[in-house]
Amino acid sequence: MKCFEEKFYRDSPGYPSEERLRKGPVAVVECVEEIPCNPCETICPFEAITVGKPIINLPKLDEKKCKGCGKCIAVCPGLAIFVVNHNFNKKEAAVSLPYEFLPLPKKEEKVDALNRKGERVCSGKIIKVIPPEKNNHTAVITVAIPKKYSGEVRNIK
Ligand code: SF4
Ligand code: SF4
Repeated sequence: MKCFEEKFYRDSPGYPSEERLRKGPVAVVECVEEIPCNPCETICPFEAITVGKPIINLPKLDEKKCKGCGKCIAVCPGLAIFVVNHNFNKKEAAVSLPYEFLPLPKKEEKVDALNRKGERVCSGKIIKVIPPEKNNHTAVITVAIPKKYSGEVRNIK
């Protein structure tokens, strides 16, 4: 069953601690279904995600090893991985997310930032767009939003 509550994901083994989130860019792995899948584990250059055996284990994030590089975002078939940079600037956090719609937004564009249910949370500004052809066929969009929404914003419109 799909759950949309931040608290639900915070209890999963892929979710970084509050302390780590405050330090800067880090992967937020919101994968909570026991399915046979592990590209997140194999692509990470820093061995920060472990699925191990059996392959249906939930991915576990080693938050000390994660550099927030974002390589794991586009390979996740479940669109369940994000990178959150709580320290983008004084007032804003940056959330990098997988994006499968067209047209792609443009850098500097103002967008609606959405929560896990697809509801509008706040306004956001696009700060980076990596198109699908450069990224495992999935675009990765980074949006700047007020810091207080960094645990909620997971999509854009
Ligand atoms: S963001 Fe980079 S370092 Fe962190 S888990 Fe993903 S691939 Fe590994
Ligand atoms: S790639 Fe995505 S769906 Fe597959 S185990 Fe990793 S986080 Fe879960």
